[in-house]
Amino acid sequence: MTLVALIVAGLRDALTFWLPLACAGCGAFDVSLCDGCRAALAPRPSRRHVEPSLTVVCGLRFEGIAARVVRALKEEGRTALARDLAPALAAALAASVPPGARVTTVPSSRAAFRRRGYRPVEILVRRAGWRPERLLRLRRTPADQRGLGDRARRENVRGAFSARVALDGPIVVVDDVVTTGATLAEAVRALRAAGAGDVRAVALAHTPRRSGSRDESEVITT
Ligand SMILES: [Zn+2]
Repeated sequence: MTLVALIVAGLRDALTFWLPLACAGCGAFDVSLCDGCRAALAPRPSRRHVEPSLTVVCGLRFEGIAARVVRALKEEGRTALARDLAPALAAALAASVPPGARVTTVPSSRAAFRRRGYRPVEILVRRAGWRPERLLRLRRTPADQRGLGDRARRENVRGAFSARVALDGPIVVVDDVVTTGATLAEAVRALRAAGAGDVRAVALAHTPRRSGSRDESEVITT
């Protein structure tokens, strides 16, 4: 942990001590997550076709309560919420991980890690019961994807990742939120380029498409 991250974590602990605890989903007092909001995080695994050759299995829709809880985990240092989000990711992983597969994550940028002091996706994967391996590294830091269209997002992340080692065998790569799928598609490309034949993509949550009249994800019934 960097010195800055340590100081940020210390300040955050101090604030947590002084500020009243509120539900990350609805703001109810004195509880980290209320029962109603926890129920809204029940796994809803679905398949999302993001590119002709890539399907992402997701555990939740990124909207309403789920979106607020994910943001609290990612941006407010509330890492304990990973425990409440883990069942949805575990369900998505259970629908995706072939026997003998290694699980890895989309790497955080150095700036994001310095700001937070932790890697949300790795915490989520561990809480979901899997041991993430750092198989990918960032070759350069892409710009923030927010506000970019589909094509611009693809351009922005092109060539951003490479594998740390030569690979074989099945690999599952995990991200927290999938929007257009450009980042995950690029991570999959980098893993395949390093020799992995069977690469699958999983995300905790997916942003519902709002432009079209139809949500293109299909629900997985188990
Ligand atoms: Zn609540």
